[in-house]
Amino acid sequence: AKAAGRNGAAMFETSMLAAAERQLTLGRDLSAALANGELSMHLQLQVDHAGTPVGAEMLMRWRRGDGTFVPPDVFIPVAETTGMILPLGLWVLRQACLARLALEAAGHPLQLSINVSPRQFRQPEFVAQVRAAFDESGVPPQAFVFEVTEGLLVEDFDMITTKMRELAALGIRFSIDDFGTGYSSLGYLKKMPLYELKIDKSFMRDTPHDANGTAIVQTILAMADHLGLRVVAEGIETEAQARFLADNGRPCMQGYLYCRPLPLDDLVARLNRGV
Ligand code: C2E
Ligand code: CA
Ligand code: CA
Ligand code: CA
Repeated sequence: AKAAGRNGAAMFETSMLAAAERQLTLGRDLSAALANGELSMHLQLQVDHAGTPVGAEMLMRWRRGDGTFVPPDVFIPVAETTGMILPLGLWVLRQACLARLALEAAGHPLQLSINVSPRQFRQPEFVAQVRAAFDESGVPPQAFVFEVTEGLLVEDFDMITTKMRELAALGIRFSIDDFGTGYSSLGYLKKMPLYELKIDKSFMRDTPHDANGTAIVQTILAMADHLGLRVVAEGIETEAQARFLADNGRPCMQGYLYCRPLPLDDLVARLNRGV
C-alpha cells in the first residue's frame, strides 16, 4: 500500500508537470497568435423583452493555424497568468471601437460590452490607455459597457473603485459579470458606479423548472430594480426561460435562443435582414 501511495504521488507530480508544460506552450503560442492574426472577436446580440437588439458582447476567439479552436475558458486564464491579457485587452478595446464604427456605418449603433480583466485594472496606465483608444477612434465612450467579474471587487476595492469612477466620468458604463457567483458581500453595489448586473448562466440553467434557481433569479431582479440597475440575463436557451423573464422584470437577454456569437460581418448581415 505504501509503494502504491508513493507511486500515486509520483504520478500526480508527473501530471502536474505535464499540465505546467501545456500552460507554458499555450502561453508561447498565444503571444504568437496575436502577431499571426489567429485571434478574432465574435459578437453576441443582447435583446430586450420584445426581442429588439440593444447591444452585443464582444467575445474573443482563437483559431490556430491548423483550423482548431482553443476555447476562451482555456486561453484567457493563461493570458491572465502570463500577463498577455494586457496587450490582448488593449487589442480587444481597439477591435470594439472598430466594430462600433462599422455598426454605426451600417445603421445599427449597438451598445458594446467588453470583458475587462482584473489585471488590466491593476495596470497604472489603464485609464490613460482607454482614453487614448477612444480619442484615436472618435467613438463615444458612452457606447461601451465594461464587464468585470465579481471576484475582482474583493481585492483592491479602493483602487478599482477609483479607476471605475475615472472611467465612468469619461462615460463608460460598468456591469458585474457572473453576478452572484463571486461570494462577495453586496456592500460594493452602492459604492461603485454601476450600470448593470449580468445574471450568470448557471442560475438561468435552473430557471424556471427548479424552485431554488428561480428564487435566486427573482431575488437578483428585485435587487437590481431597487438599486436602479439594468439587468442582462445570459445563457437564455429556451422559450420557457424567456417567458419567465417576460413575466418577471423583463431584463435584457443574451443566449443561443436569440443569437450565437458571430463574426462582425455575419452580425451586420443578420441585423440588416431585421432578425
Ligand atoms: P462570459 O463573459 O461569461 O461570456 C459568456 C459565455 O457564455 C460565452 O462563452 C458565450 O459564448 C457563452 N454563451 C452565450 N450564450 C449562451 C447560451 O445560451 N448557452 C450557453 N451554454 N453558453 C452561452 P465564451 O465565448 O466561450 O467565453 C468564455 C469566457 O471567456 C467569457 O465568459 C469570458 O469570461 C472570457 N472571455 C471571452 N472573451 C474575452 C475577452 O475578450 N477578454 C476577457 N478578459 N475575457 C474574455
Ligand atoms: Ca462577459
Ligand atoms: Ca457571464
Ligand atoms: Ca462566465
